[in-house]
Amino acid sequence: MALNDTHRVELSSWVESAQTPGSDFPIQNLPFGVFKRTGRIESPRVGAAIGDQIVDVSACLDEGLLAPDAHTAAERCRFSQLNELMALGPEPISALRRALSELLRGDSAAYRRDPGIARRVLVPMYEAELRLPATIGDYTDFYASIDHARNVGSMFRPNDPLLPNYKYVPIGYHGRASSIVLTGTQVRRPAGQIRDDPEQPPAVAPSRRLDYELELGIFVGTPNALGSPVPIIDADRHIFGCCLVNDWSARDIQSWEYQPLGPFLSKSFATTISPWVVTLEALEPFRAPAYVRPDDDPAPLPYLLWDADQRRGGLDIRLEVHLRTATMRQRSQDPVRVSRSRFTSMYWTIAQLLAHHTSNGCNLRSGDLLASGTISGAEPDSRGSLIERTWRGRDPLHLPNGETRTFLVDGDEVIMRAYCERPGFARIGFGDCRGMIVPAL
Ligand code: CA
Repeated sequence: MALNDTHRVELSSWVESAQTPGSDFPIQNLPFGVFKRTGRIESPRVGAAIGDQIVDVSACLDEGLLAPDAHTAAERCRFSQLNELMALGPEPISALRRALSELLRGDSAAYRRDPGIARRVLVPMYEAELRLPATIGDYTDFYASIDHARNVGSMFRPNDPLLPNYKYVPIGYHGRASSIVLTGTQVRRPAGQIRDDPEQPPAVAPSRRLDYELELGIFVGTPNALGSPVPIIDADRHIFGCCLVNDWSARDIQSWEYQPLGPFLSKSFATTISPWVVTLEALEPFRAPAYVRPDDDPAPLPYLLWDADQRRGGLDIRLEVHLRTATMRQRSQDPVRVSRSRFTSMYWTIAQLLAHHTSNGCNLRSGDLLASGTISGAEPDSRGSLIERTWRGRDPLHLPNGETRTFLVDGDEVIMRAYCERPGFARIGFGDCRGMIVPAL
């Protein structure tokens, strides 16, 4: 994928809010999501975010405002999920992005001719309900941050934090798709088997070690047939775009159940995602080199190694976790940032994750979600989960209002944000991925 006209930093839109400094959705972004207007009896459909508005792609098509080469993709925006659009592959989706960009530019001929189109094709976000962007058939969670793997590993195996397979295999497990929820959905504290005392049998109780995990979500676009691995040189062509993922985790349930098959009920009670899917094309200006392996690390095996992926397979996405407790909410205090990290620190690229996932012939379908694994860096304030941030609760977080946290308390709201910025390009963002903990049943 190459840079093109839609990435130009000079572009501005007749949608004024797209130019608001710090907006996640300038005209250079145009992420896709699913919405319906609040209070209307109508089917959800696909829109693109710009400023504080949603462009109703179907309405643009009906008004005859899109270039002919965008019609194939625009027709797929009449559906109530992105799966049909995702399946088309990069070129038709790129044509739609270009057509929307041209329509929304300040010098758009269509807008000059008839400024009334604004009323007919835009829906203010505050008048819309957002839906899950895709019907997610399968969800796989990776473990691609070596800092995260090392941190968590060293809590359990101080002398041998990284298992011998880590630098060869992009480690992952199959997650639960049915409990993926949209930002803003309340998350109920799970109960489960917990064994606090190794001398006693486990008991069922609400989790006391509830945690978040800051992750990037990767939506599969073009599917691959069962039995047909996707070579790494084609992997990006099978990726539609990215969102934010909070892989909520009950550490006390996890530490008892995880052996020998990995996480199960400690993760499957809820996974929160952000509503807007930022296309790989929108992320193109923020490509970065893959993780630079130290000389004594093994090279990736041939099926995971491609020059271009090593040069440009990384993504320079900056991510943050913010926390707002019930007390902070009562006092109208803003959320406080508890960590920030960068996706450039990941040991595996998104193309490597996809190539590995299909290397045994496993078929990925449009709308399947791959998550990166917790995004942590080398510094303490770049750790993307509380178990790392507080070192299993040993070093509580001290919040500015005097509260402390080891793990999440009922009423805590976790807000994840991410953005990309680079000189010469417009800053783009992902929108919030938020969820509040409510008490166990
Ligand atoms: Ca995870």
